[in-house]
Amino acid sequence: MSDQPRVEIYTKEDCPYCEKAKDLFDAKEIEYETYNVTGDDDRFEEMVERANGRKTAPEVFIDDELIGGWDDTSALDETGELDEKLGIADDGDDDDVVEHRKLIIAGTGIAGLTAAIYAGRSNNDPLVIEGDEPGGQLTLTTDVANYPGFPEGISGPDLVNNMKEQARQFGAELKNGIIDTVDADQRPFRVELTNGDVYTADAVIAASGASARTLGIPGEDELMGYGLSTCATCDGAFFRGEDMLVVGGGDAAMEEATFLTKFADTVYIAHRREEFRAEDYWVDRVHEKVEEGEIEIMKNTEVIELHGSQEEGVDHVTLVENEQGHPTDRLDDPETNEFEFDVGAVFFAIGHTPNTDYLEGTGVEMDDEGYLRTQGGDGGGQTETDVPGIFGAGDVVDYHYQQAVTAAGMGSKAALDADEYLEDLERADSSVEEAEPAAADD
Ligand SMILES: Cc1cc2nc3c(=O)[nH]c(=O)nc-3n(C[C@H](O)[C@H](O)[C@H](O)COP(=O)(O)OP(=O)(O)OC[C@H]3O[C@@H](n4cnc5c(N)ncnc54)[C@H](O)[C@@H]3O)c2cc1C
Repeated sequence: MSDQPRVEIYTKEDCPYCEKAKDLFDAKEIEYETYNVTGDDDRFEEMVERANGRKTAPEVFIDDELIGGWDDTSALDETGELDEKLGIADDGDDDDVVEHRKLIIAGTGIAGLTAAIYAGRSNNDPLVIEGDEPGGQLTLTTDVANYPGFPEGISGPDLVNNMKEQARQFGAELKNGIIDTVDADQRPFRVELTNGDVYTADAVIAASGASARTLGIPGEDELMGYGLSTCATCDGAFFRGEDMLVVGGGDAAMEEATFLTKFADTVYIAHRREEFRAEDYWVDRVHEKVEEGEIEIMKNTEVIELHGSQEEGVDHVTLVENEQGHPTDRLDDPETNEFEFDVGAVFFAIGHTPNTDYLEGTGVEMDDEGYLRTQGGDGGGQTETDVPGIFGAGDVVDYHYQQAVTAAGMGSKAALDADEYLEDLERADSSVEEAEPAAADD
């Protein structure tokens, strides 16, 4: 029907990254074919063969060329190469300002979308930039049981999609793209995306969350997507019947380990300390699974190497254990025991790094890890950074609570604080305009 190249996406059920890939092509108005590999062994084998042995969905192909999974597709989108492959790239002469907006929001997680709902209702016409994880972290979980108003629970993607719809109803515009820089030396702010698009904005809300951490150990780069994952809900089902290792000791590790018992022969948790940091609720659920024989806990244990191949996946890992905890700090200690451990899949659940690179050079204050510092305290203005007009909300500020409902609360505050700022700005501009003709008459 059109000259567009043939786009094919292998998907599976309950796969948030598959939805992200489809959303990306939908936003570009590109047609695509999808092949669901869940329960279809022939399709699964076909996908693995075409994707050079990768066993993770989605896998995207453009005119038979392997693009890869969500990370690869979104990385190509960042550089503009995806648009080139799709034949929809701009000619490149127009590197100047695309458009001025009153308010730009970085991120479509719970904080960004709540801010968008409030800002839309205040007629601030927000432009919301999706970033490399459209919908944010909650799209990675199948079951949100603690978000108020849903006594039966709700899936993360459903909650996010409802919020997107609500934001659009109030006039928010959502756009695929990643903010590369914010120039705060000029007003309005100059906001540049990684694909070269440039906007100006009177105010910016940073709701860019925090990304999953990795360990930087040997084998990690080669095996990511080939048996190593940071998202149990996305990839767990691919390793049905295998022994699986979850690395971490917080809420995410406990939740992922519990979820993986659906598929795994046995789930092992390796945690570098004696005590878990997770909420009691999650620790209790894990202990129930331990009693049922589905989870085994390895305390004071760390992974130092992953072994396997892209063809065969993860084969085994090297672990170190020392009963004093933090064994990698005690490698020379004779009490540190190093051993090989067979597992078919490994899931990292070891925390997050705040996404704040694009704010470097703006003067916005951050802590040592890069989390934004906002005013906090009593009364209004709690989301203000020390750069007037730039506000922070959600996990990118709040490293302590990191919950959907707290991110939503902070998103609403950021939109209200930004609205007050924009009104002050408008009042100041109109009083300058009124004063100018009078001066000319003198
Ligand atoms: C597996 C898992 C399960 C969870 N389960 C629960 C639960 O049951 N209940 C609960 O309350 N919480 C849960 N959480 C925590 C919850 O998901 C987070 O607290 C919440 O999503 C934080 O929202 P946020 O909007 O601050 O950030 P995020 O959800 O991280 O969203 C950040 C957004 O910013 C975008 N972004 C990043 N960089 C840029 C950039 N440069 N330019 C533009 N955009 C950018 C990203 O693409 C993304 O859209 C869970 C988290 C995980 C990982």
